[in-house]
Amino acid sequence: MVPGGVNSPVRAFNSVGGTPRFMVRGEGPYLWDADDNRYVDLVSSWGPMILGHAHPAVVSAAREAAVHGLSFGTPTLGEVELAEEIIARVAPVEQVRLVNSGTEATMSAIRLARGFTGRAKIIKFAGCYHGHVDALLAEAGSGVATLGLPTSPGVTGAQAADTIVLPYNDLDAVRKSFADNPDSIAAIITEAAAGNMGAVAPVEGFNAGLKEIAHEHGALLIMDEVMTGFRVSKAGWFGLEGVAGDLYTFGKVMSGGLPAAAFGGRADVMAKLAPGGPVYQAGTLSGNPVAVAAGLATLRAADDAVYAALDTNAKRLGDLFDRSLTEAGVTHTVQYAGNLVSVFFSDSPVTNYPGAQASETWRFPAFFHALLDNGVYAPPSAYEAWFVNAAMGDAEFEIIESALRVAARAAAEAVQA
Ligand SMILES: *Cc1c(COP(=O)(O)O)cnc(C)c1O
Repeated sequence: MVPGGVNSPVRAFNSVGGTPRFMVRGEGPYLWDADDNRYVDLVSSWGPMILGHAHPAVVSAAREAAVHGLSFGTPTLGEVELAEEIIARVAPVEQVRLVNSGTEATMSAIRLARGFTGRAKIIKFAGCYHGHVDALLAEAGSGVATLGLPTSPGVTGAQAADTIVLPYNDLDAVRKSFADNPDSIAAIITEAAAGNMGAVAPVEGFNAGLKEIAHEHGALLIMDEVMTGFRVSKAGWFGLEGVAGDLYTFGKVMSGGLPAAAFGGRADVMAKLAPGGPVYQAGTLSGNPVAVAAGLATLRAADDAVYAALDTNAKRLGDLFDRSLTEAGVTHTVQYAGNLVSVFFSDSPVTNYPGAQASETWRFPAFFHALLDNGVYAPPSAYEAWFVNAAMGDAEFEIIESALRVAARAAAEAVQA
């Protein structure tokens, strides 16, 4: 009925084996599957649920919006309020347009950057994932990495021809690429901090260097904060690092779990969008009132205490990875990008995609299934970050700690296929 049994490949268990759990209910830090097994959820719907599941303020905002009508196809006050909330949090963002998914956000930002600069080429980094946009699937992270795909059939040579893929955290490669392609690169798109090959933070000076090089050559810097935005701090990765992009893409957290996403940035660039300008971009359901209400309620509830809890919980999880794997004698590196956390079965820090691929990913299926069997729902891929939420507390960390003890032993005993 459904190809591969899932509506997004990352949900499949292809790389870990077994059958995906069908979830029927979520509350706070927990999910329940169709057989009524309860799990501590360390996926948080791949990021959005920073407050935990079915947060009362978010559910009631969505319910309240729904009873007033599901979609109007006109401007609404909520859209303006959500745009204001985003602009208030992320200083470089002066205007915001709402879309329905992170993929739409990056696709539109790329088109806008090309329209604004009159140039065709874009630079992306290996292991970074920007949604399933044709031009951005080359050497992508997330499910593309999990399934080991170089790119995707169905992407034509023409669609990929203007994409330059460079190693992450390598400014010399970026400089060389601009030198080799004079006056033809429209933009660099980067995850503000990479989270789709596992959590791989930019090295000191990388993002600042991207901005400098791009501007020196008349190109734009697109900061993809679909994953980091409103999760790693109130202002996302920008809030931690302070390097301003020209354009931003957001999704995940800002939707509160409903389909909504956004792109935004410099007013002079955003002014090129239709209807004010010639770059076309549209959406029947964009700015949907129920999704907007859920997103606004999420951001309004995400105060300093929530961000402190996310940071604390990420550190707690990372410390437990470290302790359990050390006790079991498994070589590992725990990495953070803000409060995104990852464990690599590797003895050295991972700074780029080849580094992530070189880790002992074959230990991961045993690790994953031991966690699942012991009530912890982890991302079913060695290439994904783990997403804590602010609803987790002592009781949940006790469950995680005892599950990790079993999982670390399973990882130790795993044999390379
Ligand atoms: C999830 C993600 C996307 C794609 O968002 P969708 O809503 O799944 O289309 C784009 N960029 C980054 C960095 C992401 O993590």
